[in-house]
Amino acid sequence: ARDTGQSIETLPTFTRDVWFTERDENIALSLKHTGKQLYKKQSDYQRVEVFETLAYGNMLTLDGMVMCTQKDEYVYHEMITHVPVLSHGNVRRALVIGGGDGGTVRELLRHESIEEVVLVEIDALVIEACKLHLPETASAFDHPRLKLLVEDGIKYIQQCADEAFDLIIVDSADPVGPGEGLFTAEFYSQVYRCLTGNGIMITQSESPRFNTKVFVEIYDTYRGIFGANNVHCYLAAIPTYPTGTWSFSFSSKGQAHPKQFDAEAAARFSREQGLRYYNEEIHIAAFALPNYVKDLLAVK
Ligand code: SAM
Repeated sequence: ARDTGQSIETLPTFTRDVWFTERDENIALSLKHTGKQLYKKQSDYQRVEVFETLAYGNMLTLDGMVMCTQKDEYVYHEMITHVPVLSHGNVRRALVIGGGDGGTVRELLRHESIEEVVLVEIDALVIEACKLHLPETASAFDHPRLKLLVEDGIKYIQQCADEAFDLIIVDSADPVGPGEGLFTAEFYSQVYRCLTGNGIMITQSESPRFNTKVFVEIYDTYRGIFGANNVHCYLAAIPTYPTGTWSFSFSSKGQAHPKQFDAEAAARFSREQGLRYYNEEIHIAAFALPNYVKDLLAVK
Protein backbone atom coordinates (compact mmCIF):
# COMPACT_ATOMS: atom_id res chain seq x y z
CA ALA A 1 0.00 0.00 0.00
CA ARG A 2 1.07 3.58 -0.57
CA ASP A 3 2.82 5.11 2.44
CA THR A 4 0.77 8.18 3.35
CA GLY A 5 2.87 9.03 6.33
CA GLN A 6 -0.14 8.66 8.62
CA SER A 7 -0.31 6.17 11.43
CA ILE A 8 -3.04 3.57 11.29
CA GLU A 9 -4.86 5.30 14.17
CA THR A 10 -5.18 8.62 12.31
CA LEU A 11 -6.35 7.17 9.00
CA PRO A 12 -10.00 8.02 8.30
CA THR A 13 -12.32 5.06 8.71
CA PHE A 14 -14.60 4.36 5.77
CA THR A 15 -17.60 2.15 5.90
CA ARG A 16 -18.30 0.13 2.79
CA ASP A 17 -21.84 1.34 2.41
CA VAL A 18 -20.91 4.97 1.66
CA TRP A 19 -18.98 3.93 -1.42
CA PHE A 20 -20.71 3.48 -4.73
CA THR A 21 -18.75 0.98 -6.83
CA GLU A 22 -19.15 0.17 -10.49
CA ARG A 23 -17.25 -2.97 -11.35
CA ASP A 24 -16.63 -5.60 -13.95
CA GLU A 25 -14.66 -8.77 -13.23
CA ASN A 26 -11.24 -7.16 -12.93
CA ILE A 27 -11.61 -3.46 -12.37
CA ALA A 28 -13.80 -1.11 -10.36
CA LEU A 29 -14.55 2.60 -10.03
CA SER A 30 -15.63 3.90 -6.62
CA LEU A 31 -17.04 7.22 -5.48
CA LYS A 32 -17.69 8.07 -1.87
CA HIS A 33 -21.15 9.39 -1.16
CA THR A 34 -22.94 10.83 1.82
CA GLY A 35 -25.00 7.71 2.42
CA LYS A 36 -28.13 9.69 1.56
CA GLN A 37 -29.75 8.19 -1.49
CA LEU A 38 -31.69 10.95 -3.18
CA TYR A 39 -33.66 8.77 -5.60
CA LYS A 40 -34.27 5.07 -6.03
CA LYS A 41 -37.00 3.63 -8.23
CA GLN A 42 -37.30 0.54 -10.35
CA SER A 43 -38.80 1.42 -13.74
CA ASP A 44 -40.05 -1.06 -16.33
CA TYR A 45 -36.54 -0.96 -17.80
CA GLN A 46 -33.94 -0.43 -15.08
CA ARG A 47 -33.10 0.65 -11.53
CA VAL A 48 -32.84 4.43 -11.50
CA GLU A 49 -30.82 5.94 -8.63
CA VAL A 50 -29.26 9.24 -7.64
CA PHE A 51 -26.48 9.41 -5.04
CA GLU A 52 -24.99 12.48 -3.41
CA THR A 53 -21.25 12.01 -3.95
CA LEU A 54 -18.64 13.99 -2.08
CA ALA A 55 -16.34 14.81 -4.98
CA TYR A 56 -18.66 14.97 -8.01
CA GLY A 57 -22.04 16.20 -6.74
CA ASN A 58 -25.23 14.31 -7.48
CA MET A 59 -24.73 11.23 -9.65
CA LEU A 60 -27.26 9.35 -11.79
CA THR A 61 -26.80 5.60 -12.05
CA LEU A 62 -28.83 3.04 -14.02
CA ASP A 63 -28.65 -0.57 -12.86
CA GLY A 64 -25.52 0.33 -10.89
CA MET A 65 -23.67 1.98 -13.79
CA VAL A 66 -22.60 5.62 -13.68
CA MET A 67 -24.46 7.75 -16.24
CA CYS A 68 -23.45 11.24 -15.21
CA THR A 69 -22.44 13.42 -12.30
CA GLN A 70 -23.07 17.11 -11.77
CA LYS A 71 -19.38 18.03 -11.73
CA ASP A 72 -18.10 16.38 -14.90
CA GLU A 73 -21.13 15.82 -17.14
CA TYR A 74 -20.18 18.88 -19.22
CA VAL A 75 -17.22 17.02 -20.76
CA TYR A 76 -19.39 14.26 -22.21
CA HIS A 77 -22.23 16.54 -23.27
CA GLU A 78 -20.08 19.23 -24.89
CA MET A 79 -18.07 16.64 -26.82
CA ILE A 80 -21.00 14.56 -28.04
CA THR A 81 -22.70 17.66 -29.51
CA HIS A 82 -20.39 20.51 -30.51
CA VAL A 83 -17.92 18.35 -32.44
CA PRO A 84 -20.57 17.22 -34.98
CA VAL A 85 -22.55 20.48 -35.09
CA LEU A 86 -19.45 22.55 -35.86
CA SER A 87 -18.13 19.94 -38.30
CA HIS A 88 -21.38 19.87 -40.24
CA GLY A 89 -21.86 23.63 -40.29
CA ASN A 90 -25.58 23.61 -41.09
CA VAL A 91 -27.47 21.31 -38.71
CA ARG A 92 -31.16 22.23 -38.73
CA ARG A 93 -32.79 19.09 -37.37
CA ALA A 94 -31.19 16.88 -34.76
CA LEU A 95 -32.36 13.64 -33.14
CA VAL A 96 -31.11 12.32 -29.80
CA ILE A 97 -31.88 8.72 -28.86
CA GLY A 98 -31.46 8.04 -25.14
CA GLY A 99 -30.00 11.00 -23.30
CA GLY A 100 -32.84 11.32 -20.79
CA ASP A 101 -30.61 13.21 -18.35
CA GLY A 102 -31.04 16.21 -20.70
CA GLY A 103 -27.39 17.23 -21.04
CA THR A 104 -27.09 16.50 -24.75
CA VAL A 105 -30.19 18.48 -25.74
CA ARG A 106 -29.14 21.35 -23.45
CA GLU A 107 -25.89 21.62 -25.43
CA LEU A 108 -27.53 21.21 -28.86
CA LEU A 109 -30.00 23.99 -28.10
CA ARG A 110 -27.14 26.44 -27.56
CA HIS A 111 -26.92 26.46 -31.37
CA GLU A 112 -29.46 29.01 -32.63
CA SER A 113 -29.27 27.53 -36.14
CA ILE A 114 -30.85 24.24 -35.03
CA GLU A 115 -34.55 24.56 -35.69
CA GLU A 116 -35.71 21.43 -33.93
CA VAL A 117 -34.23 18.86 -31.57
CA VAL A 118 -36.16 15.62 -31.05
CA LEU A 119 -35.29 13.63 -27.92
CA VAL A 120 -36.49 10.03 -27.71
CA GLU A 121 -35.93 8.57 -24.23
CA ILE A 122 -37.52 5.25 -23.26
CA ASP A 123 -37.66 5.81 -19.50
CA ALA A 124 -39.71 8.63 -17.95
CA LEU A 125 -38.12 7.97 -14.55
CA VAL A 126 -34.67 8.99 -15.83
CA ILE A 127 -36.13 12.36 -16.82
CA GLU A 128 -37.93 12.67 -13.48
CA ALA A 129 -34.82 11.80 -11.44
CA CYS A 130 -32.68 14.32 -13.32
CA LYS A 131 -35.23 17.12 -13.14
CA LEU A 132 -35.33 16.62 -9.37
CA HIS A 133 -31.66 16.06 -8.61
CA LEU A 134 -29.52 17.14 -11.57
CA PRO A 135 -31.44 20.30 -12.52
CA GLU A 136 -28.58 21.97 -14.43
CA THR A 137 -28.30 18.91 -16.67
CA ALA A 138 -32.07 18.69 -17.10
CA SER A 139 -32.48 22.44 -17.67
CA ALA A 140 -33.67 22.39 -21.30
CA PHE A 141 -36.69 20.07 -21.18
CA ASP A 142 -39.11 22.99 -21.58
CA HIS A 143 -37.22 24.60 -24.44
CA PRO A 144 -39.52 25.68 -27.31
CA ARG A 145 -37.30 24.05 -29.97
CA LEU A 146 -37.31 20.67 -28.17
CA LYS A 147 -39.74 17.87 -28.92
CA LEU A 148 -39.58 15.31 -26.11
CA LEU A 149 -40.90 11.80 -26.74
CA VAL A 150 -40.95 9.10 -24.08
CA GLU A 151 -40.79 5.97 -26.21
CA ASP A 152 -38.45 3.29 -27.53
CA GLY A 153 -35.81 4.79 -29.81
CA ILE A 154 -35.57 1.53 -31.77
CA LYS A 155 -39.23 1.69 -32.74
CA TYR A 156 -38.97 5.44 -33.40
CA ILE A 157 -36.10 5.02 -35.87
CA GLN A 158 -37.89 2.19 -37.70
CA GLN A 159 -40.81 4.51 -38.38
CA CYS A 160 -38.79 7.66 -39.01
CA ALA A 161 -38.89 9.12 -42.54
CA ASP A 162 -35.86 8.84 -44.84
CA GLU A 163 -33.40 11.74 -44.57
CA ALA A 164 -35.26 13.37 -41.69
CA PHE A 165 -32.26 14.56 -39.64
CA ASP A 166 -28.90 16.24 -40.27
CA LEU A 167 -27.53 14.87 -37.03
CA ILE A 168 -28.46 11.77 -35.04
CA ILE A 169 -26.84 11.28 -31.64
CA VAL A 170 -27.10 7.89 -29.97
CA ASP A 171 -26.68 8.86 -26.31
CA SER A 172 -27.09 5.38 -24.95
CA ALA A 173 -26.07 3.64 -21.79
CA ASP A 174 -24.01 0.45 -22.03
CA PRO A 175 -25.14 -2.45 -24.26
CA VAL A 176 -27.15 -4.21 -21.57
CA GLY A 177 -30.82 -3.82 -20.61
CA PRO A 178 -33.01 -1.50 -22.72
CA GLY A 179 -29.96 -0.03 -24.50
CA GLU A 180 -28.79 -3.34 -25.99
CA GLY A 181 -30.71 -2.83 -29.23
CA LEU A 182 -28.99 0.53 -29.71
CA PHE A 183 -25.74 -1.31 -30.46
CA THR A 184 -26.91 -3.44 -33.40
CA ALA A 185 -26.18 -3.22 -37.13
CA GLU A 186 -29.92 -3.16 -37.83
CA PHE A 187 -30.34 -0.07 -35.65
CA TYR A 188 -27.37 1.79 -37.18
CA SER A 189 -28.65 0.99 -40.70
CA GLN A 190 -31.92 2.66 -39.78
CA VAL A 191 -30.02 5.65 -38.45
CA TYR A 192 -28.13 5.85 -41.77
CA ARG A 193 -31.40 5.83 -43.70
CA CYS A 194 -32.81 8.65 -41.58
CA LEU A 195 -29.81 10.95 -42.11
CA THR A 196 -29.80 13.65 -44.78
CA GLY A 197 -27.21 13.33 -47.57
CA ASN A 198 -24.54 15.14 -45.58
CA GLY A 199 -25.74 13.87 -42.20
CA ILE A 200 -23.66 12.72 -39.24
CA MET A 201 -24.21 9.97 -36.70
CA ILE A 202 -22.51 10.30 -33.30
CA THR A 203 -22.49 7.59 -30.68
CA GLN A 204 -20.86 7.26 -27.31
CA SER A 205 -18.64 4.30 -28.14
CA GLU A 206 -17.57 3.15 -24.68
CA SER A 207 -14.06 2.97 -23.24
CA PRO A 208 -11.40 1.37 -25.44
CA ARG A 209 -9.77 -0.01 -22.27
CA PHE A 210 -12.78 -0.98 -20.19
CA ASN A 211 -15.12 -2.19 -22.94
CA THR A 212 -12.54 -3.30 -25.50
CA LYS A 213 -14.60 -6.05 -27.15
CA VAL A 214 -17.67 -3.86 -27.69
CA PHE A 215 -15.44 -1.00 -28.83
CA VAL A 216 -13.80 -3.09 -31.56
CA GLU A 217 -17.05 -4.68 -32.70
CA ILE A 218 -19.08 -1.49 -33.01
CA TYR A 219 -16.45 0.29 -35.08
CA ASP A 220 -16.49 -2.66 -37.48
CA THR A 221 -20.24 -2.31 -37.67
CA TYR A 222 -20.10 1.47 -38.30
CA ARG A 223 -17.55 0.98 -41.06
CA GLY A 224 -19.73 -1.65 -42.71
CA ILE A 225 -22.59 0.84 -42.90
CA PHE A 226 -20.92 4.22 -43.48
CA GLY A 227 -17.75 3.07 -45.26
CA ALA A 228 -14.31 2.68 -43.68
CA ASN A 229 -13.12 6.19 -44.55
CA ASN A 230 -16.17 7.87 -43.10
CA VAL A 231 -15.88 6.65 -39.54
CA HIS A 232 -13.70 8.50 -37.04
CA CYS A 233 -13.07 7.93 -33.35
CA TYR A 234 -12.44 10.70 -30.84
CA LEU A 235 -11.65 10.71 -27.15
CA ALA A 236 -12.33 12.73 -24.05
CA ALA A 237 -11.17 12.51 -20.45
CA ILE A 238 -14.14 11.76 -18.21
CA PRO A 239 -13.10 11.05 -14.62
CA THR A 240 -16.26 9.25 -13.48
CA TYR A 241 -16.43 6.73 -16.30
CA PRO A 242 -14.39 3.55 -15.85
CA THR A 243 -10.71 4.19 -16.79
CA GLY A 244 -11.38 7.89 -17.45
CA THR A 245 -10.80 7.51 -21.18
CA TRP A 246 -14.03 7.65 -23.13
CA SER A 247 -14.66 7.44 -26.85
CA PHE A 248 -17.19 8.79 -29.32
CA SER A 249 -17.73 7.75 -32.91
CA PHE A 250 -18.26 10.22 -35.75
CA SER A 251 -19.76 8.62 -38.88
CA SER A 252 -20.45 10.70 -41.92
CA LYS A 253 -22.95 9.82 -44.63
CA GLY A 254 -21.66 12.49 -47.04
CA GLN A 255 -18.77 14.91 -47.17
CA ALA A 256 -18.71 16.20 -43.61
CA HIS A 257 -15.30 15.61 -42.07
CA PRO A 258 -14.40 16.35 -38.46
CA LYS A 259 -11.11 18.01 -39.33
CA GLN A 260 -12.59 20.30 -41.97
CA PHE A 261 -14.48 22.72 -39.82
CA ASP A 262 -14.64 26.43 -39.25
CA ALA A 263 -12.15 26.81 -36.41
CA GLU A 264 -12.92 30.51 -35.99
CA ALA A 265 -16.63 29.80 -35.60
CA ALA A 266 -15.82 27.05 -33.08
CA ALA A 267 -13.56 29.36 -31.07
CA ARG A 268 -16.19 32.09 -31.07
CA PHE A 269 -18.93 29.67 -30.07
CA SER A 270 -16.89 28.20 -27.23
CA ARG A 271 -16.01 31.66 -25.91
CA GLU A 272 -19.48 33.16 -26.22
CA GLN A 273 -21.16 30.18 -24.61
CA GLY A 274 -18.59 29.92 -21.82
CA LEU A 275 -17.97 26.24 -22.56
CA ARG A 276 -15.75 24.40 -20.13
CA TYR A 277 -14.23 21.63 -22.29
CA TYR A 278 -14.86 22.05 -26.01
CA ASN A 279 -12.84 24.56 -28.02
CA GLU A 280 -11.36 24.66 -31.53
CA GLU A 281 -8.10 23.04 -30.36
CA ILE A 282 -9.80 20.20 -28.51
CA HIS A 283 -11.95 19.63 -31.62
CA ILE A 284 -8.82 18.64 -33.56
CA ALA A 285 -6.85 17.10 -30.71
CA ALA A 286 -9.65 14.74 -29.70
CA PHE A 287 -9.16 12.83 -32.97
CA ALA A 288 -5.47 12.15 -32.22
CA LEU A 289 -5.48 8.54 -31.05
CA PRO A 290 -2.89 6.69 -28.97
CA ASN A 291 -1.30 3.74 -30.74
CA TYR A 292 -3.14 1.16 -28.66
CA VAL A 293 -6.47 2.62 -29.84
CA LYS A 294 -5.26 2.77 -33.45
CA ASP A 295 -4.32 -0.89 -33.17
CA LEU A 296 -7.76 -1.79 -31.87
CA LEU A 297 -9.35 0.08 -34.77
CA ALA A 298 -7.04 -1.27 -37.47
CA VAL A 299 -9.10 -2.80 -40.26
CA LYS A 300 -8.53 -6.55 -39.96
N1 SAM B 1 -24.02 9.56 -20.58
C1 SAM B 1 -24.41 8.23 -20.39
C2 SAM B 1 -23.30 7.22 -20.45
O1 SAM B 1 -22.58 7.11 -21.44
O2 SAM B 1 -23.13 6.50 -19.48
C3 SAM B 1 -25.53 7.83 -21.29
C4 SAM B 1 -26.81 8.58 -21.06
S1 SAM B 1 -28.06 7.64 -20.27
C5 SAM B 1 -29.05 8.90 -19.77
C6 SAM B 1 -28.74 6.72 -21.61
C7 SAM B 1 -30.23 6.68 -21.71
O3 SAM B 1 -30.62 5.83 -22.80
C8 SAM B 1 -30.94 6.13 -20.49
O4 SAM B 1 -31.67 7.16 -19.89
C9 SAM B 1 -31.83 5.02 -21.02
O5 SAM B 1 -33.09 4.94 -20.41
C10 SAM B 1 -31.92 5.39 -22.48
N2 SAM B 1 -32.28 4.26 -23.36
C11 SAM B 1 -31.88 2.97 -23.26
N3 SAM B 1 -32.47 2.24 -24.22
C12 SAM B 1 -33.24 3.08 -24.96
C13 SAM B 1 -34.09 2.90 -26.07
N4 SAM B 1 -34.25 1.71 -26.64
N5 SAM B 1 -34.74 3.98 -26.56
C14 SAM B 1 -34.58 5.21 -25.99
N6 SAM B 1 -33.80 5.42 -24.92
C15 SAM B 1 -33.13 4.38 -24.40
